[in-house]
Amino acid sequence: MLEIAGLEKSFGEVQVLKSIDLKVQEGELVFVIGPSGSGKSTMLRCCNRLEEPTSGSIFIDGQRITDIPHRDLDRMRLKVGMVFQGFNLYPQMSVLKNVMLAQVKALKRSKAEAEARALEMLDQVGLKHKAGAMPAELSGGQQQRVAIARALALDPQVMLFDEPTSALDPELVGSVLKVMKGLREKGMTMLVVSHEMQFAREAADRVVFMDQGYVAEQGTPEEIFGAPKSERLKTFLSRVS
Ligand code: ATP
Ligand code: MG
Repeated sequence: MLEIAGLEKSFGEVQVLKSIDLKVQEGELVFVIGPSGSGKSTMLRCCNRLEEPTSGSIFIDGQRITDIPHRDLDRMRLKVGMVFQGFNLYPQMSVLKNVMLAQVKALKRSKAEAEARALEMLDQVGLKHKAGAMPAELSGGQQQRVAIARALALDPQVMLFDEPTSALDPELVGSVLKVMKGLREKGMTMLVVSHEMQFAREAADRVVFMDQGYVAEQGTPEEIFGAPKSERLKTFLSRVS
């Protein structure tokens, strides 16, 4: 479903991704860990061309997205749902309108169709009853679930999450992770950067350890957490857990 092949990215003289190869199969949840600055966010951002790769290829559902001309990027980005640390909801619009907007503007859905889809997705994240609320009236965890509903409403083929819970108070993290688990059970293909190691143990098919711009080690959660091979991974795990 998502394939990254020989991906390299430099900012000026500094090479931050050094030939990354990574495949996420359909319905798979791949979890990415690694020290700060190892290139996790840059890799994710390359997957929808928010960042331009310096070289290498990325395929989504067989299409090489690294070839797509700039004028066609918006259409490609609809296939790649992205959820960040900050939720970036439009503060002056209701929850429902937030989830409808891109459907109407980018997918050209009718208002009725967009509303029906929005309510369905809000229901999926447990927030249908908040459709009429303004973002500021919601907790951080609820806002993040709206952001997830907004991405899902566009029928993405893959969902990318970049530390979706790290801006949340600890007691709000669980509700967001629960939604992500539900998505996985529904067969969504997901690439998740997070520090929630317990979630990785419970929900990840594979864990990828990035270090200094490389995929340094990967395996099942049992392998990565239970029997890490490299010293760097052992050190990293001892610091975060
Ligand atoms: P964190 O865990 O702190 O989020 P990360 O693994 O996501 O870290 P990246 O944000 O991908 O790391 O950054 C990797 C490296 O690339 C860092 O050294 C960072 O300073 C550098 N970098 C990222 N974006 C840019 C940019 N736009 N211009 C220059 N350097 C950048
Ligand atoms: Mg990051």
